[in-house]
Formats: sequence, C-alpha cells, structure tokens
Amino acid sequence: MGNYTNSDAPVPDGTIIIERGVSAQEFAPKLNRTAADVIRFLLNNGEMITATMTLADEQMELFALEVGADLLLVEAGQQEEMELQAMFDDSDDEDETLQAPRAPVITVMGHVDHGKTTLLDKIRHANVVSGEAGGITQHIGAYKVMTDSGAEITFIDTPGHAAFSKMRARGAQVTDIVVLMVAADDGVMPQTIEAISHARAADVPIVVALNKIDKDNADVQRVLGQLAEHELVPESWGGDTIVVEMAANQNLGIDDLLEQLAAVAELEELTANPTGRAKGIVLEANLDTGRGPVATILVDKGTLKIGDPIVAGAAWGKVRAIINDQGKQIKEAGPSTPVQVLGLSQVPNAGDEFRAASNEKMARLVGEARQQRATLTNQRGDARVQRGVKLEDIFSQIQAGEVATLNIVLKADVHGSLEAVTESLRRLERETVKLAFVNRGVGGITENDIMLAATTNATLIGFNVRPDKKAREMAASEHVEIRLYEIIYKLLEDVERAMVGMLAPEFEEVITGEAEVREVFRVPRIGGIAGCYVRSGVISRGTKVRFLREGVIIWKGSITSLKRFKEDTREVREGFECGIGLSDFQDLKPGDIIETFEEREIPRV
Ligand code: GDP
Repeated sequence: MGNYTNSDAPVPDGTIIIERGVSAQEFAPKLNRTAADVIRFLLNNGEMITATMTLADEQMELFALEVGADLLLVEAGQQEEMELQAMFDDSDDEDETLQAPRAPVITVMGHVDHGKTTLLDKIRHANVVSGEAGGITQHIGAYKVMTDSGAEITFIDTPGHAAFSKMRARGAQVTDIVVLMVAADDGVMPQTIEAISHARAADVPIVVALNKIDKDNADVQRVLGQLAEHELVPESWGGDTIVVEMAANQNLGIDDLLEQLAAVAELEELTANPTGRAKGIVLEANLDTGRGPVATILVDKGTLKIGDPIVAGAAWGKVRAIINDQGKQIKEAGPSTPVQVLGLSQVPNAGDEFRAASNEKMARLVGEARQQRATLTNQRGDARVQRGVKLEDIFSQIQAGEVATLNIVLKADVHGSLEAVTESLRRLERETVKLAFVNRGVGGITENDIMLAATTNATLIGFNVRPDKKAREMAASEHVEIRLYEIIYKLLEDVERAMVGMLAPEFEEVITGEAEVREVFRVPRIGGIAGCYVRSGVISRGTKVRFLREGVIIWKGSITSLKRFKEDTREVREGFECGIGLSDFQDLKPGDIIETFEEREIPRV
C-alpha cells in the first residue's frame, strides 16, 4: 500500500481514544492528519466520503493501520465518563466490614389488567413504614413498607417491564426481586412471558403472585401448569418457584406475599454499606413549578444528606430538601430508601446514576461537562427526521412499496414515562416503517410543539399530558394531528394498527367546559370543595372531568357535586363562579384547571 497521507508528522504515541460516530473532520486531527488525508485515503480504497460524514469503525481502523496509530474506539460519551468516574472515585469504597442488610427492591410485572396497579395501591395504602393512620402517601415513584414481622421492602411504583428494561438499557439495575403477577382467570399471557424473559435476562429471582383467585372462572391448577411450562415450577409441585395465591382487590394474600418477599430477600443476603457518600439511581424526575427540578432517587449505597453536593446525569447541585414517600421532609436517606430530592440545576433522566460529590465545584464540573456533550449531540440531531407521513397515511405508503417515516413529537408527564414510551415505540419499527423523534420532552403540549410538528409533518403524541387552549387552536389551524394517551398499551396498539392499515375508530374528546380553581375549601365530613370560575363552556354535574396542572393531567374522574351559592345545581355557564366537590381527589391548588369533556366517535374516511 502506498503512502496516501500528505503529512509526514508523526502520529501521537500510545493509545488514541476515538468516539464512534465522528466525521473525518473530527477524527483526522487526533492522528495529526487532515480531513483531506482521510478522504483521499478512503477514496483510493474505493470509498467515497465527505469531511462531515460519519465514519464507520472499519474506515477509522483502516486509516489508523495505514498511519501506524494505535486506536481505541469507544461509544460516544464513554471517554468523558471514564475520566469523570476517575475524578469521583476517591476510594471511600467497599469496606466489607461495614456492610449492613438493606431492604430488597421489588418491581411488579405481568400482563395488562392482571392487577399490578391494584396490588401496588393496596400495599402502599396499608403498609407504608411509620405511616400514621390515614396519612396520605405521596406518589414519588417508589415506596417502602414494613411487613408484619418487621422486615422492610421497597416497591417501585411503576408496574410493567417497560420501565424495568429501560433502566437496564441504561446500565442501571435497581430491582432485586420481580413479582410476576398472573391472573388466575386469564393465565399466562404474552406480557407475562415477556416479563419472565426480562427477569431472567436480569438474573433476578421471580416470585409469582397468582391473583384474582376470587373469580368464578379462576383456574389455579391450569395456571400452575402454564407456569411450569415456562420453567417456573411451583413449590407445591416439587419445584422452587414461590407462588402466592391472592386477590389483590380484596387484600387477600398480600401479607403472605410480603412475608415471602422478605424471606427471599434474606436468602439473597442483600447488603450495602450505609456509610460514606451516597450513590444510586434516578427513578423519575420532573419539573415542578414551585419547587424546580424534582428527582425521585433510590440510594443504593452510602447515605444522602441535606447539603450534599450531587450530580445526576447532567444535573448538579446541592441537596436542598429530602422528602420521603409520605411527603415528609427528612434529613438523610440510606440504602434502598426512595426519596425525592430538591436542589438540582435541571431535570435529570430516569435511569441516570447520581452520586454525592466531595464538593460542589466537582459536582458542577461533572454536570456541566455532561451538559456540553448533550448539547453537542442534540445539535447533530436525529439524522433520520425527513419528510414524514401521517399516522393515518402510513399504510397507503407501505402499500405503495415505499418506506414510510413516521415523524413523532412526543410529550409526557414525567421522564420515566417519556423513556418508556420512546423505547416501546422504537420496538415497533420495521423494514417498511421507520420512526424518527423530532422532539421529546416532559410537560404539557405547547404552541412550540405544534409548530415543530407542523414544520416536520409529524404526529404529536401526548402521554398523560394535554394541549392548552392556544395549542389546541393552533393544532386545528395548522392541521397537526394530536394523539393523546394515558395507557402505553393503547398508544402502541394504535401505532401498530396504523401500520397494518387498521386504525381503530377514533374518539374525539370534545371539551365542554373549562373552569379555573380559585380557592380550595375544606368542609367537615364532606371533604374538599374547589371554588372555581368557569372560563369557557358549561360545567355540568355527572360529566367526565380532568384536572390539569401546567398542562399535565393530575386526576381523572367525574363531577359528583356542583354548587352555586351553596345550592346544588345541574350546570354552571361561562363567566360564573361555582363550587365543585372533590370526593376522591384532595390535592387541588389555586390555578389548576378543571376540564370537562365528552367523547364522540369520528368516522374514518
Ligand atoms: P394492571 O393493568 O395489571 O395494573 O391491572 P389493574 O390493577 O388495573 O387491575 C385490572 C382490573 O382487575 C381492575 O378492574 C381491578 O379492580 C381488577 N382486579 C385486581 N385484582 C383483582 C382481584 O384480585 N380480583 C378481582 N376479581 N379483580 C381484581
């Protein structure tokens, strides 16, 4: 091979670390060469590239061989991470003598409708550690309970394997034991099998919760047989899989399940060093109007204290407050304790590792370096965004033999669900249909999102969020398709159906009234009453209703009582004030919006 490089300068000594995905322009200088050298060399090897095109691994390796450089290719961000980790690790680590038992962390998985949410709700309300009678538990993404025999157990409050696998994809394994929920009347279903594979891949023990045994058509033996087929042989059949029969909605068998989990945890000998600086995982995070970035974290070693400097992903700061699963401010949190942390500079991602740093300057340095990298990556953008098609038109394009690109603008209520939805959508991709995310973000749908969707011909998907009035108007005038979902399963089903040309009839929600909360009163024995002003439309008793805070859905239900000047009334019109009864939902604040709506089917053309 001839010498194709112009420059005779020596290449740098030692291993040169290069990030995958760089262009000739970025790559060449690290080897003391110019982009032109690289381009010319590759051209002579039959490959035509430009200075800004992404180089393939082999192209870089070939060139390195040519100039005699020793190359180490790493994933984007990895080099920096390696350096950053080195800065952190000032070996206060693993003193074996300081290990103490810690609570197991549990994720509940299983097929849709088998009772996961019911189980988590029941446990949360009945057993929260040191919860006062009737004390309200906050939804912070995880909670800790105590069994009757005094063992502590931590539950991740997001059921299903989407969040679980998302965490694992980011290298974070928080779950110690999986509770596999199987309904006795329905048996092993596709998502049950998926959950089993996820737990196996993560090498996490499975405890089966055989739910709904109260139902007439429950068939325990049949389900046990199905489980055995998947190598989960129940103890009663001579295997080693613990199966707890239960009826979650009737609080039947839940205590047994908790004791079994505690027993498995004891066998697993889960320990952690509770001394030293804290390290752990971000479970979810969001931006709160009053409190700024709020992250729910799970400490896996050390103890996090108020005032600690910390970094989580690109977010950094000093811990301003630590709030536990009952909404109480606490001073510190040890291993397996889920808490909300205030004081971060921005909203970290679910699955990000967090660490307490030795000082604030260090925390800031690391956070800012990561931020810089994120900005750079974003500027490169999602290269696959191109002329998009509408969800409805996808099928006709596939039939025409073209590859359809579905551009998506995705908004969700919290980072956890944003990531889970993204991952699940990505898994729907196939040869003929590509997905490209034009933008993804946390929070209500704004005019900005509509603009973006309009210019890229994207479909706007909202998960647990709503467009505000201005955004709705703009969407109508710009012909942007907004699809709103509250259940991942439904969302995926729609996208999948669109891909095979079977989009189900769409229900349009017609907003019938909008009231602004002005004041919240507490009435003994009745509960909360929201004093409201009807901003548009009509508020009527019995209609479906949603409570919105900053465009994010915080509650759904129906209006049970409606009053005007202490008198019950059927409806209240625009421009008037009224009192709306809040039977099940107490957490309303002035400024929240109460939206009533009807569902109407839109015929397909
Ligand atoms: P998820 O989709 O797995 O989270 O399931 P849910 O917790 O939402 O439960 C689905 C439905 O099953 C709800 O209507 C529950 O009330 C009901 N359910 C849950 N547990 C039981 C049970 O033990 N027995 C019966 N009969 N119904 C149950």
